[in-house]
Amino acid sequence: MAFASSVSPSMHGLLSNALSRERNATKKICPSTLSLSQHSPVSKMDLNCQWSLRKLLTSHTCASVTDGRETSVENFPLPEGDNWSVHKFGGTCVGSSQRIQNVAQIIINDDSERKLVVVSAMSKVTDMMYDLICKAQSRDDSYIAALDAVLEKHKLTAYDLLEGDDLATFLSRLHDDINNLKAMLRAIYIAGHATESFTDFVVGYGELWSAQMLASLVRKNGVDCNWMDTRDVIIVNPTGSNQVDPDYLESERRLDQWFLRHPSKTIVATGFIASTPQNIPTTLKRDGSDFSAAIMGSLLRARQVTIWTDVDGVYSADPRKVSEAVVLKTLSYQEAWEMSYFGANVLHPRTIIPVMQYDIPIIIRNIFNLSAPGTIICRPSVNEFDYRQGLGPFVRAFATIDNLALVNVEGTGMAGVPGTASAIFGAVKDVGANVIMISQASSEHSVCFAVPEKEVEAVAKALKSRFREALAAGRLSQVAVIPNCSILATVGQKMASTPGVSATLFNALAKANINVRAIAQGCSEYNITVVVKREDCVRALRAVHSRFYLSRTTVAMGIVGPGLIGGTLLDQLRDQASVLKEKFNIDLRVMGITGSRKMLLSDTGIDLSRWRELRKEKGEVADLDKFVQNVHGNHFIPNTVLVDCTSDSAIASHYYDWLRRGIHVITPNKKANSGPLDQYLRLRALQRQSYTHYFYEATVGAGLPIISTLQGLLETGDKILQIEGIFSGTLSYIFNTFIGARTFSEVVAEAKEKGFTEPDPRDDLSGTDVARKVIILARESGLQLELSDIHIDSLVPESLKDSASGEEFLQQLPLYDREMAKKRQDADDAGEVLRYVGVVDVVKQSGAVTLRRYKKDHPFAQLSGSDNIISFTTERYNQQPLIVRGPGAGAQVTAGGIFCDILRLASYLGAPS
Ligand code: ADP
Ligand code: ASP
Ligand code: MG
Repeated sequence: MAFASSVSPSMHGLLSNALSRERNATKKICPSTLSLSQHSPVSKMDLNCQWSLRKLLTSHTCASVTDGRETSVENFPLPEGDNWSVHKFGGTCVGSSQRIQNVAQIIINDDSERKLVVVSAMSKVTDMMYDLICKAQSRDDSYIAALDAVLEKHKLTAYDLLEGDDLATFLSRLHDDINNLKAMLRAIYIAGHATESFTDFVVGYGELWSAQMLASLVRKNGVDCNWMDTRDVIIVNPTGSNQVDPDYLESERRLDQWFLRHPSKTIVATGFIASTPQNIPTTLKRDGSDFSAAIMGSLLRARQVTIWTDVDGVYSADPRKVSEAVVLKTLSYQEAWEMSYFGANVLHPRTIIPVMQYDIPIIIRNIFNLSAPGTIICRPSVNEFDYRQGLGPFVRAFATIDNLALVNVEGTGMAGVPGTASAIFGAVKDVGANVIMISQASSEHSVCFAVPEKEVEAVAKALKSRFREALAAGRLSQVAVIPNCSILATVGQKMASTPGVSATLFNALAKANINVRAIAQGCSEYNITVVVKREDCVRALRAVHSRFYLSRTTVAMGIVGPGLIGGTLLDQLRDQASVLKEKFNIDLRVMGITGSRKMLLSDTGIDLSRWRELRKEKGEVADLDKFVQNVHGNHFIPNTVLVDCTSDSAIASHYYDWLRRGIHVITPNKKANSGPLDQYLRLRALQRQSYTHYFYEATVGAGLPIISTLQGLLETGDKILQIEGIFSGTLSYIFNTFIGARTFSEVVAEAKEKGFTEPDPRDDLSGTDVARKVIILARESGLQLELSDIHIDSLVPESLKDSASGEEFLQQLPLYDREMAKKRQDADDAGEVLRYVGVVDVVKQSGAVTLRRYKKDHPFAQLSGSDNIISFTTERYNQQPLIVRGPGAGAQVTAGGIFCDILRLASYLGAPS
């Protein structure tokens, strides 16, 4: 797939337009001073900003002529420049009377010489206003009650904040406004339709009210303050694509006029609203108050624009989606712009351009946490990236846009035909759709682009109609729509010219099993954009964020079967979790524990110090689908592993599906690898095709490195000739102890008493368990055998196979003691011992479980207790086999083997080694 440009309008293009406008426009007043207020936040920030361009622009434009009006410094009292500080307070900042009080205090405490404060509507009010229109035009009478609610909200707030004449004036205006609105909404109701300008007029009232209340309150505190209806000042031209372009010249002229009438040092201005050149009220579109503040900042050549909101600054990712996101101290204009364009709604995308041309920094601050310094968005200084955070300066942040669809126009007839792209995007433009990203393969075989989901139907229809002939003639093969997509954008100015960034990005996505549908990288290299399935988006965001920012590997785990082994594993995890986190950056979180009857689920990770009690107290009825969904589906952590600690073939039958869904599987359960061959081969084929891991070291020899040794030999090109071993701790114990002192049945009974055997010792003596291990090793060595192909010499006498119980079996076993004693004696006479072994003969392509005799100096004869021993005879280890020996059973070592697999998984997923 080729990399192609993202369709974000070029910053440089916009900037040069703005600058040329500026050159034509000219300026009147030199800023009285460029010095910074000692107490303002900007004094901390100027370290990172360059002021030279700004100085140049402002001084260059002193005392000259604008738009035909003869002007001089003296005629214009508006003192532009660094003595102005602009603030913008978002809806949540003015969401209640208490919060408006708070805002007033911030304004009063700012000791800047001049202040202009842009204010949004109280939170939810703009939504309420849009809802009024919706209701009225669909002839729903409830608009009247909804309007009453708007009135009530503002009335109550005003009663809280104001008194006397101020209150009376505000309430009288509010009632007039509401009466006017009632009349307008009635007209809309009758017409069953609202024009755009009617709508813009209605929805802008929220800002008019909040600005008036705030201005009154500031005045009440003894500060001379005027409120500004920005429809009198900010003039914009609609662009036809739900956007508007400010007319800076005209706006500046109107600002001068406004200031002549209201020469205040503190101004509270409405956000969001503006007028067209014909003086028709309009808006800067949703969330446009940030843009209003930037426009005002640029008209005033302000020292800084502070955007107050409800978070500590711009985070490395949306903090609602990535709990580990960090606040960025600084961002370049380009980075901030890319972030906002790609969905970080902390800043409106159009906020940057107006201020960037004068190098005016934007500071994002949290009104609810004044101690947080916020994020400074400015031109990076020479030492721009000294403020490294996380993994380094290359990738700064991530953002996502949801509800997109991809459109793929494909066909061999497109190659080398000039005008195809123009025809495609012409058709898209005709339906007014907004193209967010484009990717074209260099073969010119297909053009793929993303549009908002709600626009895709119209786009597809337009394209099919535009290319009807080409489709009929086969020059185009299809116009395909891929719905339910999201964009994940990775932003960082320093990504430019840095090799390896995209490799790391795609690696992190691959490891989280996320399929990338399309890719674009602008040649500015400020962002890399990938399109993923909607449902994968948050997981993708978290995967890349943790890869670049935290360098921490976080794995969500589900433990199936918290019995002896599973329980021991959970205890080991509990004891080791903090060391893994602190020293190795591995964050293992158990999100679910399920037995056959009860399960315990968590969204953030179960407290392992109390998992047993919690399961009892909070456990719910076990449901495997719900369990898997909880562990994998909460999108909180990019990587999921299910650890099956049962010996249940029903659980093993789910592995294929889990792996297919990108869930890693780790298990000591032998059932999947020793089950039907076709299912085993299918599972392994899937494992090899994907980045999803399936580890099963503990299926043979518990914690002993048997599978990994075998895999190591095979992967490095050795040829396995034979694997032979004592794979059963129980049978190892029985034959190590059966040395003539006691009868065979006595030894078996003793093993049972010591807890070394299964409840029914026939499960061990039948050899089936050993046969399963043999088949696992045989298949790992490349042999395609079924379990039934393994020859088993069972130690359970034929006549005792049907004994009703283990106890009955043990009672009758002495009948066969003489036979076993003879075998032992014969061996002993020949200087040999009896051992019950599993054998994989790779050369003969067979496997067996059998009682064999070994010379007394053979390693198998030296065994003690319940140890396992496995010997690999290979082309390299031919004279002397490679031997692995050690305890091969028991909860601690088995759980340890599983734990090793979990850590191997973490390291495959990117944890440091
Ligand atoms: P306001 O009403 O103050 O304009 P917004 O809701 O428009 O506030 O924007 C602030 C919100 O943006 C935050 O509450 C946060 O949830 C969201 N947001 C999304 N992405 C980011 C990000 N990268 N950094 C900070 N906030 C973000
Ligand atoms: N009040 C407007 C809106 O909600 C503008 C803003 O708050 O930025 O869209
Ligand atoms: Mg906002």
